[in-house]
Amino acid sequence: MKVSFIGLGNMGFPMAQNLLKAGYELIIFNRTSEKAGPLMHQGARYAQTPLEAAKESDLVITMLSDDAALEEVVEGPNGILNGLPEKGIHISASTISVDLARKLSTAHAERKQYFVSATVLGRPDAAKAAKLRILLAGPEQARQRVMPVLAALGQEIFEIGDHGEEGNVVKIGVNFLIASMLEALSEAQLMVEKYGVEPARFMDVVNALFQSPVYRNYGAIMTEQRFEPAGFKMKLGLKDVELAIKAAQSVHAPLPLGQLIHNHFSVGMARGYGEMDWTALIRCLEHSSK
Ligand code: NAP
Repeated sequence: MKVSFIGLGNMGFPMAQNLLKAGYELIIFNRTSEKAGPLMHQGARYAQTPLEAAKESDLVITMLSDDAALEEVVEGPNGILNGLPEKGIHISASTISVDLARKLSTAHAERKQYFVSATVLGRPDAAKAAKLRILLAGPEQARQRVMPVLAALGQEIFEIGDHGEEGNVVKIGVNFLIASMLEALSEAQLMVEKYGVEPARFMDVVNALFQSPVYRNYGAIMTEQRFEPAGFKMKLGLKDVELAIKAAQSVHAPLPLGQLIHNHFSVGMARGYGEMDWTALIRCLEHSSK
């Protein structure tokens, strides 16, 4: 099976590397072509455009920043839609809007191609270790075909449903939970610190009570202030909160916390924290408490 991988950022690079390790014949594309160098040394072939990559593939995986990036790579004149053969599958791993997932499902179906959503849980270290958790949604026939490829990327695959956008809304919901946890943890850490308690001591108690890698990993990054280089950039965190607000508004679901967190990330963006890890949310709150 010939696989193409488009988007070699913090997440895409290690994911593509794992496909090479698993023995797939891999074609790669990245807007900034220099990032492809190390994978070419490991046997991947570079395509000049997403169209060229798709043309020769049974399956194209995209891992891009946001809706705008994915639209350009799929629908642009040199996009995947014009290249992927009939019955070819586009696996979209990026965190994108429910609306775009819906639109791309239709656009691919009109060309007798498949759109499958395979968003991921886990940061770049989990991607590197092939320990991602994958939320899979799309037509059943296509889901079965992509399973072996996804197995090379993750530790667990959740089958969400027959429509791509169902996977996207679950991913948006989970990320909203993580963002809410970051907000609550930032507020609690700042409070205990003002009483002279070491944040690390506080986290010992939190981790004993809430035994989750989410608290453990993010709590440690916050405590140690390891905001750069970012594993997950604040500008992408803000994007995800915006996706949650939009998804909730579309179905009249309440999401009052969303607006609060959005305001705090916006403060961070204005202060130039966009490229920092989204755990730097604690810095945004720190400033507002001074
Ligand atoms: P990243 O490091 O910023 O990489 C973004 C990728 O998108 C790069 O390959 C970039 O190309 C490409 N790109 C951006 N705009 C583009 C455009 N207009 N046209 C073509 N390519 C474009 O981001 P990441 O952390 O890998 O995240 C990728 C996606 O995964 C996002 O949707 C994010 O929300 C999601 N995600 C991230 C994590 C995490 O912990 N990092 C975890 C789960 C899911 P260049 O190299 O040319 O800039």
